[in-house]
Amino acid sequence: MEGKLIVISGFSGVGKGTVIHRLMEENEGFAFSISCTTRYRREGEVDGRDYFFLSQEAFEDGIERGRFLEYARYSGNYYGTPAQYVFNQMKKGIHIVLDIEYQGAFQVKEKYPDAVMLFLIPPSARVLVERLVNRGTETREQIRSRLAQALTEADQAEQYDGILVNDRLEQTLKEILRVVEDPKCAAEFRKQNAGLVQEIKKDLNGILKTW
Ligand code: 5GP
Repeated sequence: MEGKLIVISGFSGVGKGTVIHRLMEENEGFAFSISCTTRYRREGEVDGRDYFFLSQEAFEDGIERGRFLEYARYSGNYYGTPAQYVFNQMKKGIHIVLDIEYQGAFQVKEKYPDAVMLFLIPPSARVLVERLVNRGTETREQIRSRLAQALTEADQAEQYDGILVNDRLEQTLKEILRVVEDPKCAAEFRKQNAGLVQEIKKDLNGILKTW
C-alpha cells in the first residue's frame, strides 16, 4: 500500500521541528521530506539535514524544471518540497511528513486530496512569543514579522483537516498517530481547538500593538 502524505503546518516557533523529529525517531515507516529554501542558514542548521540551502537562481531553475511538488514564498524567501523523494518514499509504503506553510499545504491538498493536513498551535499567544524569543535565532524585527505572519496563518487553520495544540509533546505525538490511523478523527480536533485559534489571534493582535 502507498504511504500517506502528512502535512504539518503551524506558526513559526510552535515546535513543529521537535514534534516531527520525535515522530521519526519513535516510529518506523515515516520519513521527513527535506525542503529546499533560499533563506539564510541558522546557527546549528546543517545543509542536507534541515534544508537544502539554495541560491535564488538555483531555486528558480528548480521551479522551471518542475522539480517541486509545491513551493511558496514566505518572509521574503522561497521554500519548496522536492517531488522525487516524496514519490519514491510513498511508493515504498513509507508515510512522508512535510513541514510546510499553508500556501504549499493547499497546493499539496489539491494534488493529493488524501493528504492528511494538520495545523499545530501553541497553548497560548504568550507561549508562542516566549518560544520565539528564547530560540534566539531571530532579531526583534524578524520576530515581529513572524508574529504578523502567524496572524495571517491563523486565518487558514480551519481549512486544515485537524488543529492540534502542541502543549505536551507526548500528547501531540499520540494525536498525530491517531489521525494518521484514522484521518476522519481529524475533524474532531479541528472543532475542539478552533476557539483557541481565535483567542490566540486576539492576543497576538494586542502583543503586536506594543512590540
Ligand atoms: P523556517 O524559516 O522557520 O524554517 O520556516 C518558515 C516556514 O516555511 C515554516 O512555516 C515552514 O513550515 C515553511 N516551510 C518549510 N519548508 C517548506 C516547503 O518546502 N514548502 C513550503 N511551502 N513551506 C515550507
